[in-house]
Amino acid sequence: GEARRQATARFDSLARLAGGVAHDFNNLLNIILSFTDFIDESLDDATGAVLTQDCSDAMRHDVDRIRHAGRRAAEFTHQLLTFGGKEVIKPVLVDLNAIVREIVDLVPTPVAGTVTVTVDLATDLQAVKGDVAQLRQALSNLVINAVEAMATGGTLEIATTNVAGTERLVHLRVTDNGTGMSPATLDQAMEPFFTTKPKGTGPGLGLATSYGIVRQSGGRLVLESEPGRGTTAHLYLPAPRLAASPPAPAAGAPGTTDRTVL
Ligand code: ADP
Ligand code: MG
Repeated sequence: GEARRQATARFDSLARLAGGVAHDFNNLLNIILSFTDFIDESLDDATGAVLTQDCSDAMRHDVDRIRHAGRRAAEFTHQLLTFGGKEVIKPVLVDLNAIVREIVDLVPTPVAGTVTVTVDLATDLQAVKGDVAQLRQALSNLVINAVEAMATGGTLEIATTNVAGTERLVHLRVTDNGTGMSPATLDQAMEPFFTTKPKGTGPGLGLATSYGIVRQSGGRLVLESEPGRGTTAHLYLPAPRLAASPPAPAAGAPGTTDRTVL
């Protein structure tokens, strides 16, 4: 209804704003980062001649810190660009199972405790249409949140299925048995810049980015959560009906003809 429409409009205007800021910011960051490289090169040339070893070591150390902070800032702006829909996308047919396998290999183990990962993938999963890098990002944001919610260990389940019914849909589920969310947190979780994590951890764009990506692919993202029990993120993506291959041109027909594709 009206509330839904307003939320979507709000999301879109925030996304536009974030994307615009990120674009300009990213250019500046690239300048800062390239100058850290220039300083290192100058230090290589200058060492021994005009600088004491101690002095050049100290400068290299400081330059490293600038570079490190700059790269982290670049990761933020990269996320803002994705969220803002400013990234160039290339939709192709994608096997979500392959993306799941890739991401599972990268699951970070929290410092305390261990996370047990179980994966249940449909063998005949329909291909979905989307940008591989973006879908990878959408899914890894869900997995990162799940792992972060299980700081003392737990179980992470990822499952894919074809949804039975008239609509051709693929369902991907990410379940954790971590902290869960209060109803108020659950309500705002997908809002851009909403976070309950300490300042400096991230801009609170994980779920907003996943939502943006899923929406762009014509899908849906639904969260279910119970405080103290855990959270499930449901991702639904449409599986395009594969068009039959175009009829082969009749023998002798010219190779290039204008055709109306229906
Ligand atoms: P961030 O992770 O940077 O805080 P997100 O957009 O990824 O930003 O998530 C927003 C908020 O939603 C989190 O701060 C957290 O409160 C809540 N949240 C998201 N996923 C989970 C989860 N799996 N378990 C518990 N809380 C979650
Ligand atoms: Mg997150």
